[in-house]
Amino acid sequence: MYLVIFDCDGTLIDSQHTILHGLEVGFDAVGLPMPDRQTALSIVGLSLVQAFETLVGPLNAHLAPDMAQAYREAKIARRQIGADEDPLYPGAREALDRLRERDDILLGIATGKARRGVDHMLDVHDLHGRFVTIQTADTSPSKPHPDMILRALSETGVEADKAVMIGDTTFDMEMALAGRTQPIGVSWGYHEVDALRRSGAVNVINHFDELFDSISECLKLNREPA
Ligand SMILES: [Mg+2]
Repeated sequence: MYLVIFDCDGTLIDSQHTILHGLEVGFDAVGLPMPDRQTALSIVGLSLVQAFETLVGPLNAHLAPDMAQAYREAKIARRQIGADEDPLYPGAREALDRLRERDDILLGIATGKARRGVDHMLDVHDLHGRFVTIQTADTSPSKPHPDMILRALSETGVEADKAVMIGDTTFDMEMALAGRTQPIGVSWGYHEVDALRRSGAVNVINHFDELFDSISECLKLNREPA
């Protein structure tokens, strides 16, 4: 069996608007100025407290837990009014469908989101049952620590050299390598392609159309379903 692990934010779903809103609420809550958009989005993929710590720097790092709490509360409030529905990127559903046709490929998720956020995404896009292993910030340290990869491998019984990690940030690439799996980058997320390559991406794809071939190449899949 093979395992294809997906990141969520910036890879499957375009969550920049809801994330920026949450970050703004966090900065407001402690009276600090919001960083510029590009800086703010560079932390997407880290777990929430670590993301705020990175953005505010060591002098204000003690404020990060309060900022994270304000972010979570804002997310929950928006979810309840249906204002927190991040769209899938173009081609994502088709790519997931194509992978589902193979009975030798399992799908997983490894994300800095909370489990609650992942469940919400699965609800909104009717994707329940697609991912057999779901690793979140609730039970693992932040990327790039390999814990989420190791848990996904252990839960599925797939060997590391038969797994790939699909993500948009250097944190994903570094995590994949630390877990001895192959990282595939996507160009449509929150980190630059050059940065993804420098951090070890085996390949960087520009559209979900390219995903299956990239996975095939990394895992040396047979062309016909097993
Ligand atoms: Mg991401």
